[in-house]
Amino acid sequence: MSAFRPSRPVRARRLALPAFVLLALAVTGCAADAAPETTLPLPSPVTENAAFADWLTAFRADALKAGIAGETFDRSLAGVRIDRDVIEANESQPEFTKPVWEYLEGALSDTRVAKGKALLAENEALLGRIEERYGVDRHVLVAIWGLESNYGSFQGTMSVVRSLATLGFEGRRTEYGRTQLIAALQIIQHGDIAPASMTGSWAGAMGQTQFIPTTYNVHAVDFDGDGRRDIWNSHADALASAAHYLSRSGWKTGATWGYEVKLPQGFDYASADMSVSKTVGEWSAARIARIDGRPFPQGEADEKASIFLPAGHRGPAFLVMGNFRTVLAYNASTSYSLAVNLLADRFRGRGEIAGTWPRGDRPLGRQERHDLQRLLTENGYDTGGVDGIIGYNTRKAIRAFQQDAELPADGYPTPGLLEKLRRR
Ligand code: CA
Repeated sequence: MSAFRPSRPVRARRLALPAFVLLALAVTGCAADAAPETTLPLPSPVTENAAFADWLTAFRADALKAGIAGETFDRSLAGVRIDRDVIEANESQPEFTKPVWEYLEGALSDTRVAKGKALLAENEALLGRIEERYGVDRHVLVAIWGLESNYGSFQGTMSVVRSLATLGFEGRRTEYGRTQLIAALQIIQHGDIAPASMTGSWAGAMGQTQFIPTTYNVHAVDFDGDGRRDIWNSHADALASAAHYLSRSGWKTGATWGYEVKLPQGFDYASADMSVSKTVGEWSAARIARIDGRPFPQGEADEKASIFLPAGHRGPAFLVMGNFRTVLAYNASTSYSLAVNLLADRFRGRGEIAGTWPRGDRPLGRQERHDLQRLLTENGYDTGGVDGIIGYNTRKAIRAFQQDAELPADGYPTPGLLEKLRRR
């Protein structure tokens, strides 16, 4: 059978098509060539375009049911075609993820810090009004602006409508694409932006705040008062929209995000996880101390906090609190929240990290991540599947293995750890 396999690796993509599109392909006869049982034939561009046209027709009916006017739909999707770049980006799985110290170096570059400081000065009055309305700290807003779009200068130039239609039609995010495309059409229908000007990333993140359309619909605001919510061209609207989003996500006015800390000898690394929360007072009683030697502010003793080790037990340690978690609502990556908060601290004249990064720990490649998960599972440490993604379950399995092997249980994967598992 292997001789019949298509030469291009398209199987997963074809099988991920919505059922009604597969049905359409079968009905039109293009699935009838001699093909292995488990493999669909390659579509020609013509049949793929026909399937996309059918999909658009069916999707139009759904959009109208969701309250989109036919006129809005037709003018937004006139002449839209599949975007191959979007399909490729959607399928790509990174070989390596960047080590957190490299990510932070880029995020906290001197240029970005200097530009942010200049923009804080330039927009002092505007930021004052936004702080007054939403209670969200200006330094954090400007840090998010700097990381999301390099202060509005890099917003993505792809057509959001085309990207989302492509994602809705094909690949592993069809539900996401459909939901976001309806939301994008609602934005157009609302009159905020013309379809051609609605640009963003391949995944549909838009404007200076990189909001996806559903986030935009709930959180975007018209702060400059021109009657339109314009996160592409108005930095007042963009900054206020980010503030509105954070305030609705639990931002606590005047509270800090956290501190770099020093852990005591004999510290139990198993408690260093975002899922473990204790009050600052409790951590302090367990001899967790600020790295600069200053005491935690009295008023924060009852705040809930977690220990966060971005690079395992050999790297810097942080005690992170409520506003650190609030930034996770914006982007669910702990490295992202750390970058936003450290950048905000740089604007305030702080934010240098005292600890050193374990730069010798190279990140695991994709195959190594799979091997790690497979070996953990084979040894009785359940990683919840073998997908090459180091998430909560894998970290938990690593910790359990580390505890049994009497290693510091930081849940952090390294080449050394993989080697130990291989030798078992
Ligand atoms: Ca506006």
